[in-house]
Amino acid sequence: MTVAKLLNRKGADVITIQPSMPLGEVIELLEKHGIGAVVAVDGGHRIAGILSERDIVRGLSRYGPDVLSKPASAIMTKKVVTCSPKDRVIAVMEQMTNGKFRHVPVEEDGKLAGIISIGDVVKQRIAEIQLEKDALQDYIMAS
Ligand code: AMP
Repeated sequence: MTVAKLLNRKGADVITIQPSMPLGEVIELLEKHGIGAVVAVDGGHRIAGILSERDIVRGLSRYGPDVLSKPASAIMTKKVVTCSPKDRVIAVMEQMTNGKFRHVPVEEDGKLAGIISIGDVVKQRIAEIQLEKDALQDYIMAS
């Protein structure tokens, strides 16, 4: 399955922030939407960084509660690993495993086009494995 197909099913909406947004407000966004990461974009919808719960934990440990008034850009990851809609979901799973992160933004023509989380990838793999199991069971029963 391709990333484009997965996005068709789950939707291409991404919660984004400006790099200047104070972390206190980023935390409210994460809680409001029940998500673990936001993508920071510049004025032209280009990806400027990614900020996840883990960055907030790291920021709190490094700066204490004062971190909440700092801008997202102070602690976000600026070198973002992205994927293309044409990539296979299994390849994105490998990127996550190798890079030890749980979110991969989708980029098309230099612009943000969606996000894939580890939860989306696992859900997709479980559905595929179930299909394979059913096909195998049908084959055994018919022979
Ligand atoms: P996560 O597992 O997604 O919560 O992220 C763990 C760490 O990796 C955090 O420091 C994130 O900012 C960073 N991170 C998350 N996703 C990506 C990505 N696609 N590319 C680069 N770094 C990332």
